[in-house]
Amino acid sequence: MNNDFLQNLRSICGDAHVLTDGDLQAWEMDWRKRARGKALAVVRPANTDEVARIVKACVAAKVSLVPQGGNTGLVVGSIPDDSGQQVVLSLQRLRAVREIDPANMTLTAEAGCILQSLQDTARQAGFLFPLSLAAEGSCTIGGNLASNAGGTQVLRYGNARDLCLGLEVVTASGDIWHGLSGLRKDNTGYDLRDLYIGSEGTLGIITAATLKLYPLPAARLTAWAAVGSMDDAVKLLGMAHQHLGAGLTGFEVMGQFALSLVAKHFSQLKVPLYETSAFCVLLECSDQESEAHARVQFERLLEAALESGCVSDAVVAESLAQAKQLWHVRESIPLAQAEEGLNIKHDISVAVSHMSEFVRSTDALLEREIPGVRLVNFGHLGDGNLHYNVQAPVGSDGPAFLRDWEDQVNTLVYESVQKFGGSISAEHGVGSLKVEKLEIHKSPVALGLMRALKTALDPNNIMNPGKVLRTE
Ligand code: FAD
Ligand code: ZN
Repeated sequence: MNNDFLQNLRSICGDAHVLTDGDLQAWEMDWRKRARGKALAVVRPANTDEVARIVKACVAAKVSLVPQGGNTGLVVGSIPDDSGQQVVLSLQRLRAVREIDPANMTLTAEAGCILQSLQDTARQAGFLFPLSLAAEGSCTIGGNLASNAGGTQVLRYGNARDLCLGLEVVTASGDIWHGLSGLRKDNTGYDLRDLYIGSEGTLGIITAATLKLYPLPAARLTAWAAVGSMDDAVKLLGMAHQHLGAGLTGFEVMGQFALSLVAKHFSQLKVPLYETSAFCVLLECSDQESEAHARVQFERLLEAALESGCVSDAVVAESLAQAKQLWHVRESIPLAQAEEGLNIKHDISVAVSHMSEFVRSTDALLEREIPGVRLVNFGHLGDGNLHYNVQAPVGSDGPAFLRDWEDQVNTLVYESVQKFGGSISAEHGVGSLKVEKLEIHKSPVALGLMRALKTALDPNNIMNPGKVLRTE
């Protein structure tokens, strides 16, 4: 049976694009190298029609498939299980930018376009496409939408969902839904686009999207401020909103221990102001007028913040190169953490008003349970989203720590998140890593509705089964 099926796939997209032998690690192993599956085949269609025909072939043969973009996801959602019976459907060859509509300020691109190349294409056309994250050199827009990616500009421009006006989708039965639309207003019933966004490949395959563009700012300025506590960071955020309004485009918080890891493992990087303050904040302001205007705005904000006592010291980047260095420090935290050893990652959110109390009480809880535990806090405070990561105590064995503590740490952190009315995943999604925890922390009514949608849209359960939800 497998041979006929594979032959069918070859007749759809050509022998060279149905991979069954050789080294398939790039498609079978997740980015963090935490898991490796085994694919029946990796299929690389060239266009939407081929995707639709592959899905129909999979339905007929009762073979399930795993859509994959850049395979940079962090929740083991884009790789097959180890049965050797799932097809990885890579969207990487769907790379056309189909249209730029300057008057409508939209760009229509295929799912496999690399995020960074879309940012460049938009810039060359005189526009900003603001979605921005550290994986932008390898992640795809299809993957960004399927996981509703966030990143560093959400505060001003929203997440991937907010940047998408329309989708083209191959449904789980192999039909093509032509939902590409540049409409900013459309109230004709249920929003199908929003169902597919964030569904992590479990409802259908995104093959193209129409995305919002913005005017390029005349200037962008970056500042770095030292604050004594998470409370002070939250106060600074409030002041930044007041002073900068829509000009505030980034607000990242970084704990002292997180920054000390960057200083330790990347000694060539200059990490400012961290030695004497519990947290540092990276602020970005975009200005439609000029750099001089932005600078005045920033200086007024920082003067007021110094005067109020919530900031103890601050620097404004003098040049683009210096701004890049500051962002580089922020983006190096996950890598520095990896250098330090295995760790347990979270991407939680709580209301900004609860953030300080959440951190205080969760830190105390973990320190009580795991003497010597090291907490790596950083993230998008402007969105109420923290990477609340847990590193093994000094001298302990990383793999053993993960084995003995991971589930318990997740339980403690997620219970605390729930107590504060937060979410166990603000960015990375559920994938296969958080399926069980979702069952605990999502209400039975919500889970029931999600299962009903899954059954209605994917009645054969062939789309990325086992990810996000267990259906039975
Ligand atoms: P993949 O990893 O290939 O897939 C992700 C999920 O989407 C899988 O479930 C897959 O089945 C599904 N999928 C992929 N393509 C399609 C498609 N066309 N149709 C339907 N389903 C599809 N995330 C954030 O939100 N914010 C961050 O700041 C952030 N920073 C990151 C930094 C690094 C260094 C890394 C490695 C990851 C980061 N991520 C971040 C995780 C983020 O989810 C991914 O980087 C990105 O959005 C996934 O895109 P991808 O093309 O690699 O998708
Ligand atoms: Zn993040």
